[in-house]
Amino acid sequence: MKQTPPKEPKLLKADVYPARTVLFLSLFLTVLGLVGCGHGEDSPSLQNVDGRYAAPAELAPYVDEFLAAATAHSKAIDSALVGKLSVIYDESLPGAVIGRCEQYTGTGAKVIKIKKSRWETIDEATRQSLTFHELGHCFLGRKHDDTTVDHGGSTAPASLMSTEIIHGNVFEAHREEYLAELFK
Ligand SMILES: [Zn+2]
Repeated sequence: MKQTPPKEPKLLKADVYPARTVLFLSLFLTVLGLVGCGHGEDSPSLQNVDGRYAAPAELAPYVDEFLAAATAHSKAIDSALVGKLSVIYDESLPGAVIGRCEQYTGTGAKVIKIKKSRWETIDEATRQSLTFHELGHCFLGRKHDDTTVDHGGSTAPASLMSTEIIHGNVFEAHREEYLAELFK
């Protein structure tokens, strides 16, 4: 069943997340096959996740991991806010865009759009980096932050809210720093 995001007339904020750096991901990482039975990109298996929010079942763990991390960092997200969230696949996101957070006035609906064809090319840690970034917009009200930090001689984004996606390997190597910064 196809579901579309709420159609409030006023788009408050749309976030565009370039995925250029995703191209540099290691090729040896396995991409799991997620699609079956001839359903096209227009047929996301959008599900109500335990009555808490809406998302394709395979994307729910990323949201849940974010919520758990938020709680662990004393930034528990209110369930009413969580209830505003829908995560959907959208292949119409423009070329280099892999994810986007849209927030709507009125109902306060928050829609995260994921370009599935790109999503399937990135590894688990990068998927988490991406979803945490989008949820940083939707749930934390964070804006982009392109501050950099020195990681043992190499410059890297200091925040998951960097305009450009943070590689999974960088995220994993400095996970606690990035989470502490995200939920500061
Ligand atoms: Zn963003």
